Amino acid sequence: MSRAARLDAMDGAAPKVLVIGGGINGASVYRELALNGVPVMLAEKSDFCAGASSALSRMVHGGLRYLENGEFDLVREALDERNRLLKNAPHLVGPLRTIVPIDSWVSGALNAPLRFLGLSKAPSRRGALPVKLGLSFYDIYTRGKGGLPPHEFWSAKTATARFPFRPGLRCAATYYDGQVSHPERVVTEIFEDVARAGCDAVALNHLEVTKIGPEVTLADRIGGREITLRPEIVVNATGAWIDRTNARAGATEDMVQGTKGAHLVLDHPELRDMLGDDMVYYENVDGRICIMFCLHGMVLIGSTDIKVPDPDKVRCEADEQAYILEGLSWVFPGMTVRADQVRHVFAGVRPLPVSGAGTTGQIPRGHFNRWTQAGLPMLSMIGGKWTTFRAFGELAADEVMARLGLTRRTGTGDLPIGGGAGFPADPEAWCKEAAAASGLSQARVATLLTRYGTLAGPLAQSFAGERELTGLPGYSDAEIDYLIAHEQVETLADLALRRMVVALAGGLDAAALEALADRLAAARGWTPTRREEELHRFRVRLATDHGADPERIGLHRKGEVAAQ
Ligand SMILES: Cc1cc2nc3c(=O)[nH]c(=O)nc-3n(C[C@H](O)[C@H](O)[C@H](O)COP(=O)(O)OP(=O)(O)OC[C@H]3O[C@@H](n4cnc5c(N)ncnc54)[C@H](O)[C@@H]3O)c2cc1C
Repeated sequence: MSRAARLDAMDGAAPKVLVIGGGINGASVYRELALNGVPVMLAEKSDFCAGASSALSRMVHGGLRYLENGEFDLVREALDERNRLLKNAPHLVGPLRTIVPIDSWVSGALNAPLRFLGLSKAPSRRGALPVKLGLSFYDIYTRGKGGLPPHEFWSAKTATARFPFRPGLRCAATYYDGQVSHPERVVTEIFEDVARAGCDAVALNHLEVTKIGPEVTLADRIGGREITLRPEIVVNATGAWIDRTNARAGATEDMVQGTKGAHLVLDHPELRDMLGDDMVYYENVDGRICIMFCLHGMVLIGSTDIKVPDPDKVRCEADEQAYILEGLSWVFPGMTVRADQVRHVFAGVRPLPVSGAGTTGQIPRGHFNRWTQAGLPMLSMIGGKWTTFRAFGELAADEVMARLGLTRRTGTGDLPIGGGAGFPADPEAWCKEAAAASGLSQARVATLLTRYGTLAGPLAQSFAGERELTGLPGYSDAEIDYLIAHEQVETLADLALRRMVVALAGGLDAAALEALADRLAAARGWTPTRREEELHRFRVRLATDHGADPERIGLHRKGEVAAQ
């Protein structure tokens, strides 16, 4: 369906439910409602998955740290959801062995209960004992659930033989959690699943809800059109924007407080080779937990946790970058990072509930819903981890269906996501067969399998005769054209930052940008002037928000970045 057709279908419609926000939680509740036969529409003001849902540390995890805050129910639920995702989306979510370097035996053992009781506010060093207790909880809870191997402890000798940790290490703990390679694709595939199921549902990006009353007004940020909807219920799934969205219905209550987190993507072969397939989960100088692991051939390292008032105005600042790099040389003394090795940076805002917690780390990470009345009933989805999106969407959908007097017909607990359906037990044999059927090389089909799961089969056939694009190794003209035609790509940022793995793989340079602009301009019928404007706007954004080297991305004129 074209964008114009989607807008026509929405304008003046009266769906049972309007979901505002196309992050992971909005997509989740949309899927739950649509698959249960509830007529539903979704509007996202930016692109799908452009908020916190693409800025995460990419851990699909129980949340070892949350045990310190006494969030046992959250950790239990997150472990269940982690295990489900490993099964339902194996092309995008995989196991991640995690290493925790430990400096002392017992420190933090008393601090954790004190923090739980609200008697201690500072992040503290975690000794072997509290880590052991936390990991035992993980193992006991997941035992027999077909999950991941149990934890182990390494002696200091074993740990320092594997990693060049700083002197004074007592031991290291190892355990397994999950990682999501491309969270944006999970959201895209959820929308595609709903479309394929033929539900009475429409989702549109670049469509901002500007006013909420009995009638809802929406502004099309691409074509400039204004439309209205008359839903029976509104679900506010706008994460860190929840209060701003509720304000558009006249509400003044504060429900969320955002904390910003930033990450760096390093092109650092020494660190990458040293990490291998492991994640290091370590305390920074101030005791805050940070992470680093390899992703798409780069090293992902982060993050920070800073209260911010405006989710629209966040970027990774210089002091955050310094803090993250200080932590790296604290855990691995002597490891240096040159400025040109920081290839990409990103930041997002955690949508945490308003809380009286002393530190940002102590704010609860669980989720809950709140009903308010704004001329029509409105449900705000507050908090939540990326890992628990399915459970949160299920909870919100149940509340909405109860209010509508409807009963659940189907669940999503065992439902594969996109190309996770029929994922082969023997991927190599599967790729061999798909390569023979399509004429593409087996290596190329293997790449497509990691991106699209089993959807790679039909895609490989439709990409027959494809041509690799200059400046974009691993992507072909046919693949880019497919993404543009089928996945609601409206801007270069939609394409380069979310539909593809190119920025995070360190591959966004001037040649890549030109190639992408050519494909998108041709598909959308942009004039040469429009193409140049779009390209320039995106380059400026890459330089200001994502730490791109202006020279490398072809943003030549001096002073251009500062002037924006
Ligand atoms: C730095 C960081 C690290 C994290 N690490 C992890 C991790 O490793 N593992 C994990 O499980 N979780 C992690 N999280 C938490 C997780 O990312 C978030 O809890 C989750 O993504 C929130 O999803 P959401 O859909 O509620 O919000 P968002 O993804 O922010 O989506 C809200 C959407 O609403 C849209 N919107 C706002 N206003 C309007 C409007 N008026 N009209 C239409 N649309 C609107 C926004 O554009 C946005 O896309 C992390 C978060 C951060 C910031």
